[in-house]
Amino acid sequence: MNSRQSLLRQLPSVDSLLLTPSLQSAATEFGLDEVKQHVRQVLADLRNSLRNGDAGAEVELQKDNMPDLISQRVLQAVQLSAVPVLRPVINLTGTVLHTNLGRARLPEQACQALYSLAAQACNVEYDLETGKRGDRDKHVQQEMCRLTGAQAVTVVNNNAAAVLLVLNTLARDKEVLISRGELVEIGGSFRIPAVMEAAQACLHEVGTTNRTHLQDYREAVNAATGLVMKVHTSNYAVQGFTASVGEQELAALAAEHGLPFVSDLGSGTLGDLQRFGLPPEPTVRSVLEAGADIVTFSGDKLLGGVQAGIIAGRADLIERMKANPLKRALRVDKLTLAALLEVLKLYRDPQSLPEKLPFLRDISRSQQNIREQAEQLLPAFRKTLGPGLVIEVRETSSQIGSGALPLDLLPSAALVIKPEPGATGSDAKLTGLAAAFRKLSTPVIGRIHDGEFWLDLRCLDESEALLDLLPELLDQV
Ligand SMILES: *Cc1c(COP(=O)(O)O)cnc(C)c1O
Repeated sequence: MNSRQSLLRQLPSVDSLLLTPSLQSAATEFGLDEVKQHVRQVLADLRNSLRNGDAGAEVELQKDNMPDLISQRVLQAVQLSAVPVLRPVINLTGTVLHTNLGRARLPEQACQALYSLAAQACNVEYDLETGKRGDRDKHVQQEMCRLTGAQAVTVVNNNAAAVLLVLNTLARDKEVLISRGELVEIGGSFRIPAVMEAAQACLHEVGTTNRTHLQDYREAVNAATGLVMKVHTSNYAVQGFTASVGEQELAALAAEHGLPFVSDLGSGTLGDLQRFGLPPEPTVRSVLEAGADIVTFSGDKLLGGVQAGIIAGRADLIERMKANPLKRALRVDKLTLAALLEVLKLYRDPQSLPEKLPFLRDISRSQQNIREQAEQLLPAFRKTLGPGLVIEVRETSSQIGSGALPLDLLPSAALVIKPEPGATGSDAKLTGLAAAFRKLSTPVIGRIHDGEFWLDLRCLDESEALLDLLPELLDQV
């Protein structure tokens, strides 16, 4: 009998493995069924390796104490599968509101609210005074109306949902007038023409890509028109020979014909961002004051809060949206409402906002402050990543992201890592390096640019968070 067959025969049974002390304690921690499943999988893998003539597995199993070796493997597999798949990462991409990394980080106050409400029943849609069914939007409405001057507010899953609900409610089977210069695509699959179609509204384009005049809208109004719409071109800019029509004129034209005027603002600024060195952005209040009947915007772009779409404006129109069955499909849960409300409350005191709201804290950091942090981290990086890699501090530009203010770059600083000049396999080294940072117990996400690995430190609150991870890189790169 060859050694492979004898090894196959010697493989311990599932039950005997489950009796080993290490797997007994694993069963207490992770559950017996979970451990059993991994025992079966590890045994099946070993059987396959042996049958396929895997010499490595043979040598390994011929060592003493096969059951210990196998239970060790099982333990590793159990622990690995217990690591949460959704976890915190450190965003050093240089994009502050990174859609794939969850956009805005929430302030402490919002996290506290989430924590205290998550495990409890709460009055999300229950009126504590009357003991009857309440209004889910009421909690946020008061605060939002105070900040924007809107009459009423309703909250849905995200701004894409907000636009969908507005169009479906106010312009189903009707025409929506919109400038050809505003048929935007916002990453993913949000494209104005596609959303119109999904909402069963008919797109009626007016003007041209670069120039649209009030007269274009005026000539397009007809018996089938449902509303006039303006979409903030938040993620691109048309420059040169251009013309577009402002909110005030569009609002007046719509009112003249008894039509609602809707403005999709996208990023949704609530306050003055110029204090943070950003260019002027229309605020929700200014658009409503200019005469918009309805404004839609995101909760997690320039507002710096949680994923949500906010529809603000005329009370009678908001009532119609709330009566639309789609609202039920698009509504948000108690946790979203709680987090959003806490973020809005921070806006009561604009002076302390940059301290308390992570998004504003990130964008208001000076280049000098970020550079100093990079200089402080440099020696530890050089020491850990050692010879073979060149590590420097460099100036860079961060961007806001999520399609907000695309042209405005924030002066920043980064740690830049690259293979020593002339090193072989530089490209593989670089992707290996990026992968090693992603494999850290708290993954660190940077970006590869021009043959170098960049870690823009703008969104790094605590240097220690990064320093503490460095030792894990020692045997990785
Ligand atoms: C970002 C954006 C959207 C989509 O908002 P989400 O919150 O990402 O769904 C829609 N319209 C405009 C103008 C935007 O900028």
